[in-house]
Amino acid sequence: MSGVLELVREDLRDFAGYASARSVTAAGPLRLDANESAWSSAADPAGSCVRYPDPQPDALVQALAALYGCGPERLVVGRGSDEAIDLLVRALCRPGRDAVAITPPVFGMYAVAVRLHAARLLEVPLVEIAGGFEVEFDRLAQVALEGGARLVFLCSPGNPTGNALALERVAMLADALQGRALVVVDEAYAEFSRAPSATALLDAHANIAVLRTLSKAHALAGARIGTVIADPGLARVLRRCQAPYPVPAPCAELAVAALQPDVLARTARQIATVRAERARMATRIAALGCVTRVYPSEGNFLLVRFSDAGAAFERLLQAGIVVRDQRAAPSLGDALRITIGTPEQNDRVLQALGAPATEAP
Ligand SMILES: *Cc1c(COP(=O)(O)O)cnc(C)c1O
Repeated sequence: MSGVLELVREDLRDFAGYASARSVTAAGPLRLDANESAWSSAADPAGSCVRYPDPQPDALVQALAALYGCGPERLVVGRGSDEAIDLLVRALCRPGRDAVAITPPVFGMYAVAVRLHAARLLEVPLVEIAGGFEVEFDRLAQVALEGGARLVFLCSPGNPTGNALALERVAMLADALQGRALVVVDEAYAEFSRAPSATALLDAHANIAVLRTLSKAHALAGARIGTVIADPGLARVLRRCQAPYPVPAPCAELAVAALQPDVLARTARQIATVRAERARMATRIAALGCVTRVYPSEGNFLLVRFSDAGAAFERLLQAGIVVRDQRAAPSLGDALRITIGTPEQNDRVLQALGAPATEAP
């Protein structure tokens, strides 16, 4: 048994999951094994949805493996990273007993999945230093070990804090937690960052898993396609714990189309625009009288502190612009998170916040 499988709930290690018609390998020209309709729907004349889909559509798995530079045996594709987070918590934590460590302020879904599964939540808050927010790695390792964590969720670049984590520190954390916990690096915003992906650590550290998604840079949030990249043995267990047909056929088809070279080239140009706009917006927003701090960001958003965040939120709302209110998050009582839009949308944000009109060059 590979070391990382010891982290899977003991009662699930030999769990086979649901044997769906599509996961059983028998094949023949006439398939009457899954109670599907013999006719396609008038709404789907091509019949692309008449059959249950392949649980892990091969064309999509291959395209994602190429995109992320990993072997397909490491990939589990599902309905967004949100499903992946839930799957990891369910597969690794015994309800009411095991714990999950997180570093708030951070993406809220980790705590939601932990709560729904009745696992215990361990919080090691980020600390603020001159350059932005930082994970206290030594304390995180200690809390995870002492608190019985099976999972540690890291977010890099962080949502909402925007900072990327150093891979050496992630590797050291995984070493410290070897045989005790899986370190999950959520890279939902990796495409907007120049920091290297934690997938580089997977060969040397079986207790690291990486989450990627097509929801942000690839503009497919509505298709719900996310990927866990993990130890191949762990990936097999996670697939067995998944819903029988986790990837709807039209979504898989759309995702494969989005990973063709011409679409990827266009996505790359959009990412370059986001980066340029992120830099422009950070400078312009920091110059506003109502702003006390703009954090450096490697994502497609900026975290901004205001002298009166409520008033800024209202001013934006009056202009028809909705941003993410962070005031309920720990240590962000005066902050808003603003997604980077098109240059024209960003100008509207600046205008609503009272920025002087840019002078003609
Ligand atoms: C948006 C976001 C996700 C959600 O991704 P889906 O693939 O759409 O479920 C995951 N993690 C973080 C940090 C996010 O901000």
